[in-house]
Amino acid sequence: MARTRRPLIAGNWKMNGLRADAIVLARDIAGGFRQAGWTDRDLLVCPPATLVVTVSEAVRGSGVLVGGQDCHAEASGAHTGDIAAEMLRDAGASCVIVGHSERRTDHGETDAVVRAKAQAAWRAGLLPIVCIGETLAERESGRTFAVLANQLKGSIPNGATAANLVVAYEPVWAIGTGKTPTTGEVADAHAHIRKELGGVMAEASGVRLLYGGSVKASNASDLLAADDVDGALVGGASLKADEFLAIAKAVQRS
Ligand code: PEP
Repeated sequence: MARTRRPLIAGNWKMNGLRADAIVLARDIAGGFRQAGWTDRDLLVCPPATLVVTVSEAVRGSGVLVGGQDCHAEASGAHTGDIAAEMLRDAGASCVIVGHSERRTDHGETDAVVRAKAQAAWRAGLLPIVCIGETLAERESGRTFAVLANQLKGSIPNGATAANLVVAYEPVWAIGTGKTPTTGEVADAHAHIRKELGGVMAEASGVRLLYGGSVKASNASDLLAADDVDGALVGGASLKADEFLAIAKAVQRS
């Protein structure tokens, strides 16, 4: 069956990278993307905010997209240390991750905060990637689906469309641990997310749903083959160009 949603492989570099290394990594990814000649999938890298300009310049003309890892809900003002969505856009970003579990945990971000950040992304012309996912305790107590439904309800603003929203399902216990759900568990979670999305927006069937959590070249084919998985949000493995490109290669051709 022909794909209706364009696959997206997104790399979250987290708090890693200084200019010199980031330029090499970005150029290697851009070179690999160009060489592969993929026209049927998107590749996105999300460096630390200090490197958005540098990385945008390094990948210019390659088709590789650049995103931020977080943004503030306001466009400007007295928010020391924060970055506005407009600033990311000005620096060359076209996307921004919001609600990553590390932000929710380290900075106490609630669903309401995440929702405001997604709206800020729209205001600035950025595509938000809204992250949701259950903790191990929530999974073990059988609350995964309820948690995901609540996070979606609280984090997705009114006005979401297939074109202006990406959702990443990232089980917290799978992030950076080397543990992953089974392909069946990922498919079940994504089916549930898509069904719940239908309750909060009109174009749920067209929204891209990414899986994130310990995706590597060696497990990408299995995870990306799960029903309703339209790509991956990749942390650690996105810091090596070969590994990241191998994950992008694992996307099934349309
Ligand atoms: C992430 O932080 O979004 C992530 C999925 O990390 P990792 O791939 O390292 O588990």
